[in-house]
Amino acid sequence: MRTALSSLAVVRPRSLAQALRALAAPDGERPVPLAGGTDLLVYLNAGTHRGRRFLDLERLRELRGIRVGRPGVTIGALATFREIRAHPVLRRRFPALVAAAAEVGALQIQARATLGGNIANASPAGDSLPVLLAHDAVVLARSRRGARAIPFADLYRGYRDLTLASDELIVAVRLPFPPAGAVPFFRKVGTRRAQSISKVVFCGLLRRDARGRTDHVRLAWGSVAPVTLRARAAEAALLGKPPAAAAAAAVAALAGDLAPIDDIRSDRAYRSAVAANVLAQFLRAATPGRAR
Ligand SMILES: Cc1cc2nc3c(=O)[nH]c(=O)nc-3n(C[C@H](O)[C@H](O)[C@H](O)COP(=O)(O)OP(=O)(O)OC[C@H]3O[C@@H](n4cnc5c(N)ncnc54)[C@H](O)[C@@H]3O)c2cc1C
Repeated sequence: MRTALSSLAVVRPRSLAQALRALAAPDGERPVPLAGGTDLLVYLNAGTHRGRRFLDLERLRELRGIRVGRPGVTIGALATFREIRAHPVLRRRFPALVAAAAEVGALQIQARATLGGNIANASPAGDSLPVLLAHDAVVLARSRRGARAIPFADLYRGYRDLTLASDELIVAVRLPFPPAGAVPFFRKVGTRRAQSISKVVFCGLLRRDARGRTDHVRLAWGSVAPVTLRARAAEAALLGKPPAAAAAAAVAALAGDLAPIDDIRSDRAYRSAVAANVLAQFLRAATPGRAR
């Protein structure tokens, strides 16, 4: 049954310190972080969220902004996908993240939905997650107990199971600049072109050395396992070889990396076939002169 909004309490801290104090409350009194609300309001509308006290993050300046430094970019947890799409440095240096941001819902959702919310919601279909994994992102978390830098690869233990503690907030995400010359690639496959949840979502990053052999590769997938994951066997099949020459072996190895399920959106066989096609497409794109 739909949750009556009048039964909910919202705490509106003015600073990160106040927010962390509220989150240090004992279990049962601890409020649930609320960012853009584009996931939480859906759960409340469906009556599937048990939270009754919420911590509105809107006023926390510490969680805002996109800062460019020498080794990379730090994106505040409250950065919306609209802000990510519009940012000139992200457009130039992280085109796969910008492409993912452009595929999250429609413009109205992109104007509210935050990167921190996408990560903490922990859906294996979250569109930004394979991009963060492929780019070796680090999640910066804070609680009253201190600060932690969590490699994105270590963030999820299992289906919707985060290593983030309930008194911790995501404050930002750090993205190192990709290796010079690496080719980025993002592909989301859904039921239709716009406004659909991913059946398969992929981010690849591949660099070739002076002799054309792959010396850096990341193949990160969403919606094909309980968590976002890297296809390590397929990556190993590519390393040290020209991508075109190793493409068939990488596609064959991919089947062992993924664990797609049958669900209402798609079935295992379809997801496996689409993932193989997407990988082949990426490897063609990463090889100059090859038709896509
Ligand atoms: C119509 C519609 C279409 C959508 N389409 C897509 C899509 O195409 N692709 C996609 O990936 N998603 C999609 N979504 C889901 C949603 O928009 C995203 O997951 C979004 O990024 C969530 O961010 P938010 O700020 O709205 O999070 P909220 O709803 O505010 O929060 C989501 C979760 O994250 C937690 N949280 C939020 N911020 C923090 C923080 N800083 N620290 C710790 N915990 C935090 C909250 O407690 C909650 O558990 C869609 C949603 C709707 C309603």
